[in-house]
Amino acid sequence: MTCLRLILGDQLDSGHSWFRNSDSEVVYVVMEVRQETDYVWHHAQKVIAFFASMRAFAAELEVKGHRVAYLAIDDPKNRQSVPDNLSDLARTYGATRIEFQEPDEHRLDQQLQDYRTRAPVTTVRVPSEHFYTERLEAGALFDAQPHWLLERFYRHLRIEHRVLIDAKNKPIGGRWNFDAANRKAWRGTPPEPPDARPSHNHAALWKTIRNAGVHTFGNPQAEAFRWPLNRAEALQQLAHFIEHALPSFGDFQDAMSATATRLFHSQISFALNTKMLNPREVVARAIQAYETGQAPLNTVEGYVRQVLGWREYVRGVYWAKGPRYLLSNHFAHRRRLPSWFWSGATRMRCMAASIGQSLEHAHAHHIQRLMVIGNFSLLAGIDPLHVHHWYLGIYIDAIEWVEVPNTLGLSQFADGGLLATKPYVSSAAYIDRMSDYCKGCYYDKSLRTGPRSCPFNSLYWAFLIRKKDKLSSSPRMALPYKNLSTWSKQDVDAVLQRAEDVLANLEAI
Ligand code: SF4
Repeated sequence: MTCLRLILGDQLDSGHSWFRNSDSEVVYVVMEVRQETDYVWHHAQKVIAFFASMRAFAAELEVKGHRVAYLAIDDPKNRQSVPDNLSDLARTYGATRIEFQEPDEHRLDQQLQDYRTRAPVTTVRVPSEHFYTERLEAGALFDAQPHWLLERFYRHLRIEHRVLIDAKNKPIGGRWNFDAANRKAWRGTPPEPPDARPSHNHAALWKTIRNAGVHTFGNPQAEAFRWPLNRAEALQQLAHFIEHALPSFGDFQDAMSATATRLFHSQISFALNTKMLNPREVVARAIQAYETGQAPLNTVEGYVRQVLGWREYVRGVYWAKGPRYLLSNHFAHRRRLPSWFWSGATRMRCMAASIGQSLEHAHAHHIQRLMVIGNFSLLAGIDPLHVHHWYLGIYIDAIEWVEVPNTLGLSQFADGGLLATKPYVSSAAYIDRMSDYCKGCYYDKSLRTGPRSCPFNSLYWAFLIRKKDKLSSSPRMALPYKNLSTWSKQDVDAVLQRAEDVLANLEAI
């Protein structure tokens, strides 16, 4: 009566009820498969991180007395497909039942649903037990509404889960949202906390990955690999964040710097998205920091909003909208990504820094992703599906359920405004206000036209001019359109011409 229990690479949750007792009739199955390394072109660190974490998780299960069947990427018995390996292992172990936790991606969800119709044994799907919300909870709340306001969902969850809520269902501190206090630029103080992430030597694993023919990009940093790869390391990283970075997280959560790549961000997103950490414990630790006077309310609320609010919200969008959401392209953008998205070799200092950091560390924080790289992609008219593939591949924490709504909805406005009340676009003014990128840039942040004018400026105004029919009725766009209404025809023509020149020379910009 052996039962196989499948653990996917993003299901490394030692707190799952599966693991409460060890049972000699249960074999846990963990597999490194080409179907997962090859569905998009991944950053090298992403592949190393998943495989190393899966190996660590399997080893921990064995230490705790569980039986484990582990298929490494170079195992001759590995069929490189989840269903094929499951069928083989069912035969090998004489299994009569296969259980799996609900996957978090449409692709895997569909594959396992299909497999259930032809599996050689009984199959059972169980909850992952990770998220606060059910897959379709946000969809049910918003139903057919054209705009899904995060704020409504977030307040609903705050009350339901008693997070920063008083006995009368009012927000602690009298406000639901402290965003207005959380938009400071960072000018070097307080100093960026030290990088406390552990260091691993994964040279041997990296060699195995390469020898298996897995195609990756980016710096593998295999001999000094800096991401938390097991629960103990993830908890240490969380504790470090709470003590050293959280107190300043809120103030500087939108700030960017060429000299400080982490600033006050947590660096736990890979651990959280692979379920080594549970969002409830992360939120509880942040609230504890507020209650003990370690961190102010604006910063704790800002962080809780990310984990309890935004993270659950984008998952709700992903499941409610289904795979067709990937085809969203509100502005019918068709341009390809310039080749420097894979090298960082552009004279735009903000893009070079943000892309360079992404290639080096498989990470950039949300404002670099949204207001630099995403901003440029939208202004340049890049096909949102291409942008999606790039984001999904490069970021260590990018799993489709979280990446797709962030990229297509928030960043590229491809859904026409389901998530965002306006496109997140800006000229150089915003980037200059929130970063130190413009100082020392080849381009001039204050110029709209001319060969040294900042490309963000001409692209931004050309975007507004060309998309006027789709955007000018939005109250949140009233200010820039009012500004534009004062321009002469020559000014409009000149900025459109400069934008054309930028787009015609995108490779060399
Ligand atoms: Fe980026 Fe323009 Fe500033 Fe250069 S001047 S860093 S291209 S915003």
